[in-house]
Amino acid sequence: MSEDNFCPELVGSMSQGAAGNPTVAMVEAAFQHHGLNWRYVNMEVTPEDLGAAVQGARAMSYRGFNCSMPHKVEVIQHLDGLGESASIMGAVNCVVKRGDQLIGENTDGKGFLKSLQEVVDPKGQHVVLFGAGGASRAVAVELGLVGVKKITVVNRSAERGQSLVDLLKNKLQLDAELVVWDKNYSTPEDCSIVINGTSIGLYDAGAALDLDVSSLREGTVVSDVVFNPPQTKLMRDAAERGCKTVDGLGMLVNQGVIGVKYWTGIDPDPGVMRKTLEEIFGV
Ligand code: NDP
Repeated sequence: MSEDNFCPELVGSMSQGAAGNPTVAMVEAAFQHHGLNWRYVNMEVTPEDLGAAVQGARAMSYRGFNCSMPHKVEVIQHLDGLGESASIMGAVNCVVKRGDQLIGENTDGKGFLKSLQEVVDPKGQHVVLFGAGGASRAVAVELGLVGVKKITVVNRSAERGQSLVDLLKNKLQLDAELVVWDKNYSTPEDCSIVINGTSIGLYDAGAALDLDVSSLREGTVVSDVVFNPPQTKLMRDAAERGCKTVDGLGMLVNQGVIGVKYWTGIDPDPGVMRKTLEEIFGV
């Protein structure tokens, strides 16, 4: 055994209460498939210990780490710089060691965009986005950066919705509007992409958005960020109406693909990563 085998390169995930995180299996599958002596380690980190944990990752020469809620914003103060979209949205889910620096990136929106682009080019399109939380902000910023025509944010809380619309208008000079989601919503005729960025449907295959599904026209692209279960009610309703569907597994796989590329420099095989998740979710 070479000396290298005793010293794998390390990346990790700083999260709270994320035991069994499917990302671990997915990333480790990519490392194994490509013969990389790397490990992806899940680390339970409390908000009070976040600064010390980042210092620890530096001291132990981690090549990077993912971080999930509640660390996505707070981690920024412990880093040396931010990538473009992470800087615009003010949230980091992927930290990458570049030289001696720890740089914060946001791969959630990039992963979503990559899977959407397999079906449609969003440039110049009118997008309806349900939600204004972390996932929606990441998705909206990436869509803005590739030049969508307009984003209609449909959100229950007016305050959170307005904050996202202001960000899109002020930082990306995008045509954006808020619809406060207090009644059944019908998608406008000129919209060609509809995205659920809320947590509705998470762990509940029967949960429905307060959406008039008859307003979804054939050929519209309908996407969901929820990946568990991948076949949400929205995905099933949209497929029945002849829409093209993009499930949340694609986003999860692609944010992992981008993370592995950032950390290792190789382009991992997305098929191996998706297959691992499908086995976990029993798809
Ligand atoms: P947040 O808590 O930041 O935001 C939740 C959003 O959902 C808010 O807009 C909230 O509205 C809305 N919402 C929740 N429940 C309801 C409801 N009953 N009716 C109307 N609106 C509702 O969560 P995140 O943005 O971080 O995560 C959202 C989803 O995205 C989760 O299911 C998560 O698993 C998924 N996700 C998937 C990823 C992937 O790779 N596929 C990556 C990251 C996240 P309000 O503002 O009114 O409270």
